[in-house]
Amino acid sequence: MTSIVVVGSVNADLVARVPALPVTGETVLADSMTVIPGGKGANQAVVAARLGGDVALLGAIGSDAFADIALVGLRDAGVDLDGVETVEGPTGVAQIWVDDDGENSIVVVPGANRAVDADVVARHHDLVAGADVVVLQGEIPLRGSEAAARAGRGRVLLNLAPVVPVATDVLALADPLVVNHAEAERLLEESERPVPESPFAVIAELHGLGPRSVVLTLGPAGAVVLEPAAGVGEPVVVPTPHVEAVDTTGAGDAFVGALAYRVSQGDTLVDAARTAVRVGAFSVATHGAQPSFPTADDVLPSVR
Ligand code: ADP
Repeated sequence: MTSIVVVGSVNADLVARVPALPVTGETVLADSMTVIPGGKGANQAVVAARLGGDVALLGAIGSDAFADIALVGLRDAGVDLDGVETVEGPTGVAQIWVDDDGENSIVVVPGANRAVDADVVARHHDLVAGADVVVLQGEIPLRGSEAAARAGRGRVLLNLAPVVPVATDVLALADPLVVNHAEAERLLEESERPVPESPFAVIAELHGLGPRSVVLTLGPAGAVVLEPAAGVGEPVVVPTPHVEAVDTTGAGDAFVGALAYRVSQGDTLVDAARTAVRVGAFSVATHGAQPSFPTADDVLPSVR
């Protein structure tokens, strides 16, 4: 049995470094460009595996030259790729611009990720159903994520990035729902709920949408965790280490992958988040998404 199954996107990231992000209508000259593996699903799987997790990925790549690039980090990390299907057409690609302050803008072209629907989940039902933790995001078709959430007997970690209109019964399975601040605002707006100023009030509103537990990530302010089942009715703030941010791409993925790994090891959410903030901070201090993810040795002592 694989303890963590990530059902999600696999991309090749085309990363251009620019002095400043272009505004609408502006052309800027990039300092450099690299092509590296990415995709939220793949990133999260790589992080969990690098930290020591037993991880499988369910997803799809295309029949083009980007497919091998998209898989290289997963292969290196030892992620089980039996659930990655090859479909005719392009592999998912993310066009990423990163400025000198480490801020980014991203356009994702889903390509083969669009094929990861309920049929793919049904073909790999035993893998998903047998996992201790099923990790989902918003970059594959909603039907695929929903089928995976319902198929699993393990814990569902639902990272609504980007925000997609997930079914109420699936939201109710989320343990936790993980969102960053912008996603939280959008999710609450789309649910026609108030968007309070304070993170504590935001997390309470998010909990009101039905998930069993909630993790709200706040960039350099760390994360807030609400896990009523652990006997803590109040949100808990988990601060993040102070680092010089060079590239925030993939910080959320690093956080989610680490959270999944620690939860699969039996941590409470608050303890898992204490590791996840360190892993997120490590990733923003280094360039790239997957290349910047740490191993367990990089973020000792809290990982083991
Ligand atoms: P996303 O990448 O999805 O926007 P966040 O920006 O909230 O998510 O970052 C996820 C986690 O990464 C944070 O909870 C924090 O631990 C870490 N992190 C992000 N930015 C910084 C930063 N500037 N300094 C330190 N840690 C950071």
